[in-house]
Amino acid sequence: MAKTTKYIFVTGGVTSSLGKGIISSSIAKLLKARGFSVTIQKLDPYINIDPGTLNPYEHGECFVTEDGAETDLDLGHYERFSNVPTSQANNITTGIIYQTVINKERRGDFLGETVQVIPHITDEIKYRIKLLAHQGNYDFVITEIGGTVGDIESLPYIEAVRQMRWELGRNCVVVHLTLVPYLAAAGELKSKPTQHSVKTLLEQGVQPDIIVCRTEKHLPESFKTKIALFCNVAPSAVIESIDAETIYDVPVLMHKEKLDVEILKKVKVPCNTEPDLVDWEEFLFKLKNPSSEVTIGLVGKYVELKDAYKSINESFVHAGAMNECKVHVRSLQSEFIDESNVAEKLAGLDGILVAPGFGDRGIDGKILSIKYAREKKVPFLGICLGMQCAVIEFGRNILGLTGAHSTEFNKTTPFPVIDMMETQKKIAGLGGTMRLGGYRCKVKKGSKVFDIYKDEYITERHRHRYEFNNDYLDAYQKAGMIPVGLNEKDNLIEIMELKGHPWFIGVQFHPEFKSTVANPHPLFVSFIKAAKTYAANQVKKSK
Ligand code: GLN
Repeated sequence: MAKTTKYIFVTGGVTSSLGKGIISSSIAKLLKARGFSVTIQKLDPYINIDPGTLNPYEHGECFVTEDGAETDLDLGHYERFSNVPTSQANNITTGIIYQTVINKERRGDFLGETVQVIPHITDEIKYRIKLLAHQGNYDFVITEIGGTVGDIESLPYIEAVRQMRWELGRNCVVVHLTLVPYLAAAGELKSKPTQHSVKTLLEQGVQPDIIVCRTEKHLPESFKTKIALFCNVAPSAVIESIDAETIYDVPVLMHKEKLDVEILKKVKVPCNTEPDLVDWEEFLFKLKNPSSEVTIGLVGKYVELKDAYKSINESFVHAGAMNECKVHVRSLQSEFIDESNVAEKLAGLDGILVAPGFGDRGIDGKILSIKYAREKKVPFLGICLGMQCAVIEFGRNILGLTGAHSTEFNKTTPFPVIDMMETQKKIAGLGGTMRLGGYRCKVKKGSKVFDIYKDEYITERHRHRYEFNNDYLDAYQKAGMIPVGLNEKDNLIEIMELKGHPWFIGVQFHPEFKSTVANPHPLFVSFIKAAKTYAANQVKKSK
């Protein structure tokens, strides 16, 4: 029998970047730890259909789901915290909503009617929220509304929340996240921005049930009472969200503040038990009490951007905790790496990861970094473009294929060792047209990668147009770059491993999208372990 799903809406006020995604993920974690089934959804108010075509400078990393949706990076947090895979249904944009409604109009579905924001757009928004609940028969659907309350573009979403709140009655909770600034000159925490953002929500017909206050200083009880009074909520519904040492502290902090209890109270669900956070606390303990440390070089094109390689950085955190090892990441802009400085820039690294990417900016620096890792036997992980660069480097420097390249960067290369997939050649449009999502890969028994996964068949997520050119397979294999992962259906090489190197692996897929706190990705765990061994050997050598 279908259960009564409860809906939790998370809105944000005052400024963007307050961490709505982390608060939503923390709520999901706490409810899951109490045994409820939960999913999280992000509604993005921009007009792009998805962030797949957005520059990382605009929107940070594009997260890829198992079913091949290119989504907001918050979905990465949802998966890392809740350990539940997301899908296309978990990320809806204004673009998707309007496209659907306009397509319906063209088909004649609304014949005779004037198609309007209310009810047609808001109905489509509500349908997308409820659809998720029906798909998974969840106890809770958490819906994060992107943007800041008061933005013109988020109005239809807030209106949809208003209507759903009215329709659902007690099966609905609105959590509003705001900022409480501390004015050092006055020595005071300020409540006015919160009052104003709640007022804005009220003008749009939504009374929040719970107010989460992001703050750098603890909120005194009297301050909470003041917010409660001005914002029409109980003092217990004013929750402090203090700046945390790591994002993974937030579920524990939210539990201490009783955010989960307050939510359950609002939807009248009894909460007689405590959430089971034993594994989470153990992870936090390991994370905060490392017994060793390594420095990994992250060679990429957008390393100055905090969010561009979000999932890779978080995978390091998971794998570090698993190894009880602090992972320091040295970000290296590949554009600035050349023959004259490569040794100096990469000195002291215990592992090198060459990042995924598009376009030829910084390609030479990536290839030079890989040559360094190969020759100096530094553990190396190449992801997607990182693997493709490893293939190019090996072709040029070991197989003597002068000028070997990917046809993405040189259409007339004499040795197209990386080439566009046949299926991609006929595609004209850019959005959602890459090889996307989870594909099955057969791992060669006896390989290092087989040892790592301990499985012959794996499924990993993809996002690319180019692939290893099988015309060169024999030559690579004979010279020691071994294909150890194969997509049998389409005969695509998915993993390369270097013989005679302690740890040199290139993968055509993105393992970082599947690493979670509960299940750190085995490739990352093994990579950090190899870096630890490398670091220990370096210390021995220097003695
Ligand atoms: N640009 C490369 C391709 O399209 C690699 C993509 C990536 O690294 N995600 O194949």
